[in-house]
Amino acid sequence: MKDFTVQYFINNALIGQSTIPSPFPYPESICFFCRDCGDIWGRVWFLADQTYFRVVTAACDRHKAGPWDFISLPGSMIEDLFPRALEERAAFWPLTVTYMPPAMLKREVQLLLRKLP
Ligand SMILES: [Zn+2]
Repeated sequence: MKDFTVQYFINNALIGQSTIPSPFPYPESICFFCRDCGDIWGRVWFLADQTYFRVVTAACDRHKAGPWDFISLPGSMIEDLFPRALEERAAFWPLTVTYMPPAMLKREVQLLLRKLP
């Protein structure tokens, strides 16, 4: 198990970073693609010697999520609100509440609050 620095970007702006353990020497970074506008609006980037990007389809915060989206809240990256064991779905560890940096969690709460009437 090796620790990696992971940086979180929204629209090319660095929002925060975390340290995340990975059993893989070449962990998988993630980018978020909006099917409506074609923007790559988010990146979760492992600072490793080698990494490749998994592209997930997810609505940006300006568009409506569809049934094809990875996450149903537009603009959201968080995959799980609850801490989980490291061995579960390792590719998405950076998208859990356990590892997201505080600035990203704040953004997630703001997105949720926007949904309230
Ligand atoms: Zn969009």
